[in-house]
Order: sequence, then structure tokens, then C-alpha cells
Amino acid sequence: MQEGRVIKAYNSFFYVQIDEACELVTCKLRGKFKRSRRENGILPGDRVMISRLPDGTGVIEEQLPRTSLLIRPAVANITQVMITVAAAQPDLHPLLLNRFLVLAEWSQIPKIVICVNKKDLYDGEIRMFLSEYEAIGYPVLRVSAREGTGIEAVCGRLRGEITVFAGPSGVGKSSLLNRIDDGLSLQTGCVSEKIKRGRHTTRVAELLPYDGGFIVDTPGFSAVEFTEIGLERLPLFFPDFRPYLGCCRFSPCSHTHEPDCAVKAAVQEGKILEERYEAYLRFFEEIREQRKVE
Ligand code: GDP
Ligand code: ZN
Repeated sequence: MQEGRVIKAYNSFFYVQIDEACELVTCKLRGKFKRSRRENGILPGDRVMISRLPDGTGVIEEQLPRTSLLIRPAVANITQVMITVAAAQPDLHPLLLNRFLVLAEWSQIPKIVICVNKKDLYDGEIRMFLSEYEAIGYPVLRVSAREGTGIEAVCGRLRGEITVFAGPSGVGKSSLLNRIDDGLSLQTGCVSEKIKRGRHTTRVAELLPYDGGFIVDTPGFSAVEFTEIGLERLPLFFPDFRPYLGCCRFSPCSHTHEPDCAVKAAVQEGKILEERYEAYLRFFEEIREQRKVE
């Protein structure tokens, strides 16, 4: 048996990259997997054990445990999300950025990076975009896909990670991936299959090998809604709130209307960014409204 990773699923075929070998094996599923449709079956990103047939193809015998599961697109074992926004065109909306941040936290993706594209469009007195978010602990990369600046910093973050790009449409995710692709063609790794964007007719996500890791070819969280997030857990997805949780007079505290709320006090003292708290209130209301409908 050999261990590997599913990088692409197409019809009933699974393409498995064998660890420590420059080999991509076309596999079918052992019958038992066909019957069990639970846990979304076998997805791109899944770690599997395969056996080989004399003709060189393989059979997936076993699915190994997952560390994470992204629903849109369905990909297993994502380790990083690059939340992409634009410095302008479209304007940077804190609420939208925070929506993606909360969804990424909720999805338990280990590494969350903010990437501000189109910095070429910003020539005023430069407020360092989103430095407040760096203070929260989210690395912020400032790039221009058009001018090709800052791309190395993005590439450096991709090494060894399974990265999905997320963000509103029009911010330049495709342009950015094309830039990264340019960089890739300079490399000669053993799985330097070039990123072929736009040539696939299917909208099923695929992992593109890159620098010891993978890039998911389909943007994440395209439908940005919170239907599954529980109200009680919402504060946990704001890492900057965490030091104050449990310090409120009431327990539980929703941090909306209660007196002596430690979160609200931290906002007043400037320890929590106001736009973060406003985003929290907005998401809290949204989730509550959804519940009423259900
Ligand atoms: P996506 O929807 O996030 O994939 O965005 P696209 O990559 O399709 O880009 C949307 C538009 O923004 C296109 O017209 C791009 O040419 C433009 N664009 C992308 N990156 C940059 C950039 O760094 N600077 C500027 N000025 N425009 C950019
Ligand atoms: Zn509170």
C-alpha cells in the first residue's frame, strides 16, 4: 500500500499524488466507499492509502483522518486561507472583510492571512492598510497583481501549505493566481505541473501542486452566509475578544446590551477596534434573524 493525497476528483476517478514520489496515480474507489456517502465521501485534499494494479492504476483502500473540512468548495485538510481584498475598486469594506475572517475562524483553518491587492491604485497619504488587523494577529500582505509587487511575500506564505484564496469578486484573486503561476514556471520541482487556470470545464475544486504544498484552484466561501454559526459561539471567532470573554458581569453575556460587559468596556478603552465590534453586532443580529425564520 502507498500513502498519498487526492488532488483531483473527476467523475468516478481520483487522482492521487503519492508521497515522496513524483507520481500521480489514477485511482478508483474500493466498493465500500461508494456505499458510504457520509462525510462528503472522498474529497480533494484527503489523505488516502492506495493499492496498485498491474496496469499502474490504483484503488483507494482507506481514507485517513481529516484535520479540516471546507464546505465551499468541498476540500479536506486546508491549512491556510488567503483572504483577498482590494485597496480600492472595489473599496475595502470592513464588514465584508470581517465576514470572511469569521467564516475562516469558524472553519478552523489554522492560518489566516489577509492580502490587500491593488496597492497601485492607492496613492494618497498611505494609511497602512489594515495594520490594526496585524495587531489582532492576522498577517497582512500588500500587493499589486497588476504591477507584480509584493508577490514574493505571497509565494513565501504558500510553501508547504494547502491554501485557498477567498474574498469578494473583483478584488483580483484570478490576477494574483496568474502572477503566482508566472513564478511557478521558473521553478523546477518534481511536481511542477503548471497551474492551468480556466481550462477546466468542471467547477469541482482541484489542488494545484505548488512549492511543497497546494493551491486550491477555486475561491472559497463564495456564498457568504452564517447559517450554521451558533450565536453563543460567535464571540470565539473574534480572537481580539478572547482576553475579555469570561470577564463580564453576566454569564453568559451576549456582549450586546448587558451592563458591565468586559468586551464593551474594551471597545470603549480602544483595546478592541470599533469596526470589529460593529461587525460583531451586525453578525449577531443576522444570525438571530435567521433563527427566527427557522
Ligand atoms: P477576481 O474576481 O477576484 O478573480 O478578480 P480579477 O482577477 O478578475 O480582477 C478584477 C479586475 O481587477 C480586473 O479588471 C483586473 O485587471 C483588475 N486588477 C487585478 N489586480 C489588480 C491590481 O493589482 N491593480 C489594479 N489596478 N487592478 C487590478
Ligand atoms: Zn459581555
